Amino acid sequence: MRVELWDICNQSPEKMSGNENHFEVIVLGAGSMGSAACYHLAKRGVSVLGIDQFDIPNNRSSHHGKSRMIRKAYYEHPDYVPLLQRAYELWGDLENDSPEQILFKTGALYLCHSKDSVVTGSLRSAKEHALPHTHLNTAAIRSDFPEFTVPDQFEGFFEPDGGFLRPELGIQEHARQAERWGAHFLSNTKVLDWTTNPSRVEVKTNEAIYSAEHLIISAGPWAQPILEHIGIELTVTRQVQAWFEPQGAPARFSYQNFPCWLIETQAPYGHYGFPILPGQKGLKIAEHRPGVPISAAAIDQEIQPPTEKELSGLRSVLETHIQDAAGPMIKSCTCLYTSTSDQHFVVGTHPGDDRISIAAGFSGHGYKFSSVVGEALADLASCGKTKHPIDFLNPMRFI
Ligand SMILES: Cc1cc2nc3c(=O)[nH]c(=O)nc-3n(C[C@H](O)[C@H](O)[C@H](O)COP(=O)(O)OP(=O)(O)OC[C@H]3O[C@@H](n4cnc5c(N)ncnc54)[C@H](O)[C@@H]3O)c2cc1C
Repeated sequence: MRVELWDICNQSPEKMSGNENHFEVIVLGAGSMGSAACYHLAKRGVSVLGIDQFDIPNNRSSHHGKSRMIRKAYYEHPDYVPLLQRAYELWGDLENDSPEQILFKTGALYLCHSKDSVVTGSLRSAKEHALPHTHLNTAAIRSDFPEFTVPDQFEGFFEPDGGFLRPELGIQEHARQAERWGAHFLSNTKVLDWTTNPSRVEVKTNEAIYSAEHLIISAGPWAQPILEHIGIELTVTRQVQAWFEPQGAPARFSYQNFPCWLIETQAPYGHYGFPILPGQKGLKIAEHRPGVPISAAAIDQEIQPPTEKELSGLRSVLETHIQDAAGPMIKSCTCLYTSTSDQHFVVGTHPGDDRISIAAGFSGHGYKFSSVVGEALADLASCGKTKHPIDFLNPMRFI
């Protein structure tokens, strides 16, 4: 049913609640965070509409590429660890009702020069939160992980709970299970504008106008102009991922035998990679460093594919650090990071209107948190507060 703006504006809230275009919560962007928010809201019996401009999931935003690392001993800051502990539980719940495995605990190995920060930061989080781990000196890295080549003075940190998630499957399952609990979704439907008035929030798409008591903005890279409006700067960058077929016996590199890994190649940045996933042929590698910035105007246009120079840079890291990994390149693609100036997320209530919640700026490390961010967003939308310790991610820190 198509409802024009004047139509909605002239209706009383009571009448609106019987309106099929009215929901308790609308979620703008049903990607990583948005699909999880829909799932948690629907499970609580809240009427929710998730809207995405593309397919759910899609390969135009920040969540494609078949794998995302998940780890608990967070080198970025120990404050993330309680959120991660809950995230793991919630991934387990989602997986219990999923026909396929979403989270694979392969173990994760972090390597850096002893003067750099990845291992020290991981140790800090592991000690503060009593997380299982092994601290490795150079000799131990070489004996326990013989596929890895490291210079002298490198140290390592191994975390058995680390591993990878399958992001497209995670989004698909959040949306599928949300739908089962009564959520509505609109894919390939672009939100063109949203406004607030004293009684509700109105959301205009290319098809119709919808209204809600609460709006969650989880628009990934497209959140940039929205947050700029309230004084929060986000930078969208183009990131490259590539898959290489290993030389020799591929079973050595399969997810049953090989860990996820991260090497601080040029502090504070690094390269990271994955074993061969079920049903796949190659090892994925990417660089965790903000790439070439993309303007808000250019984001809807075709993103430049990976260049020869970028791909040979990735190959050279594999050649230097993982024996036999750098065989023929199988495929490559780009994806988008949306980063804040401090590399920490923005999750909380809109500073100007508590009927709007924001989840943005995940700075290239957000996917693993989407299960718990979805739960926190559902708390904010349904009761205005959350028990999750997300104060350090509050948008107000920038304003
Ligand atoms: C190459 C790469 C590697 C990464 N590796 C890791 C990793 O190993 N571990 C990890 O935890 N994280 C990783 N990340 C980061 C993680 O993937 C992101 O932080 C996360 O996906 C961000 O989720 P999001 O919900 O903010 O955005 P998205 O998942 O992109 O969702 C935003 C959605 O909003 C929709 N949307 C936007 N505007 C509109 C509109 N106007 N109307 C309708 N729909 C709209 C988009 O279509 C999109 O589907 C990586 C990211 C990249 C790019």
